[in-house]
Amino acid sequence: MRSCWNLPVFLLVTGTAIHPQQTSTYARIKARLDAIPAIDTHEHIQPFSELPGRIQTARGLGVNLFSVWKHSYYSAVHKLTPWTDGQDFDQWWSVARNDFADAKAASFYRYQLSAFKDLYGVDFETITPAQARDLDRRIFENYKTPAWIRRVVEKANIELMLFDPRIRFDFNPPYDFAVLALRVNPLLLAFHPDETPDPLHSPYSFAAKRGLPLRTLDDYVAVLDRLFQDAAQAGIVCLKYSGAYRRTLQFDNVQAASVAATFGRRRQELNAQQIKAFEDFVFWKLCELAARYDLPFQIHTGHGRLQGSNPMLLLDLIEANPRTKFVLFHGGFPWTGETGAIAMRNPGNVWIDSVWLPTLSFSMAKRALHEWLEMVPSTKIMWGGDALLAEGLYGGTIFTRECLAEVLAEKVDQRRIKEADALRIGRQILRDNALALFPSMRKRLWRKDVPRE
Ligand SMILES: [Zn+2]
Repeated sequence: MRSCWNLPVFLLVTGTAIHPQQTSTYARIKARLDAIPAIDTHEHIQPFSELPGRIQTARGLGVNLFSVWKHSYYSAVHKLTPWTDGQDFDQWWSVARNDFADAKAASFYRYQLSAFKDLYGVDFETITPAQARDLDRRIFENYKTPAWIRRVVEKANIELMLFDPRIRFDFNPPYDFAVLALRVNPLLLAFHPDETPDPLHSPYSFAAKRGLPLRTLDDYVAVLDRLFQDAAQAGIVCLKYSGAYRRTLQFDNVQAASVAATFGRRRQELNAQQIKAFEDFVFWKLCELAARYDLPFQIHTGHGRLQGSNPMLLLDLIEANPRTKFVLFHGGFPWTGETGAIAMRNPGNVWIDSVWLPTLSFSMAKRALHEWLEMVPSTKIMWGGDALLAEGLYGGTIFTRECLAEVLAEKVDQRRIKEADALRIGRQILRDNALALFPSMRKRLWRKDVPRE
């Protein structure tokens, strides 16, 4: 009989559980974190003229509400009614408004909501057809000038961001708040000029411009050295590799002698093992050069191709290159525990970057931050947004600030850390850790009003 009485009591307790953002501790910590001009370690906001999402609308070519959802992470998993060139917005919305019903709890949906709320004053959850039409019009107007991107960056309280340019060897940042990373993906495949046909991405074009010979593997290693030297001098602060969308993160330590004959041959003349061995050789060489020119190495781990993207596959490489600074992106999602363990075992040369993680899964990001802070020094964790358009950049940033503030407030309320320490950790993750790892970014700081710790 007793159990019959216990059930309603249990329901009563769970039904009144308060939202983690309703505590006074959260409110205090969030307010302090919001005041910190953040250093965002990874974005893809392309030069204004190259932004994705410009489509034919009834108003002409431009970015609209469809574009904002299409070029967000939402569309990778959830339903989005396609746009037909030149179509009327109301006609599209009459169908598309029903697309979001099954994504209501999804982080890929929810991370954009703060952008609509804070940048446009619209609650997307209760949006009316008239509000949707007006939102669409305002998005279109905003994307007429690059000033929109800057306004959003300022509103998100980001001082500087590391920009992944999908590789160009011209080293020019597209915005004054952007600092460049060198995307090294094409370097792994440059065994033949046909593999890197775009001159902006080609080590062969780079070598030709510098008057360097490029006929042998030894020449190629010398060209890579020169590329890194020039990149470091031009203000590039790190390397970025995102090949885990294409191949395994298992990089074997291959000797030059066994891949020298691969260089200069066309893909059709090679088998898969020869190509992998060449890529592996180059990757180890890049780790060596990263140490020589003190360029930390940001590596995409986890979600992407998924197979072969477990960060544990990098462990031998990491431990054999103790002078190379490795930054494990996305917290290794879904292998966040493994990522923490790798950083814990290699405190001298591994950092964890939670970039994109709250957007992938807010709850997993919270769990990961809780665990990582228990495993590694608080100097080893950073964050980034990983967006293509301004709304995604804003939403990803707000999501991260909320996630971090929830974690820190919970640790304080559980009496696991003092509030002053929580505030210090928050500032480290949002700002100080990136400036410590990429010290040359300090030269580009421009805010005069940064609150002291
Ligand atoms: Zn990215």
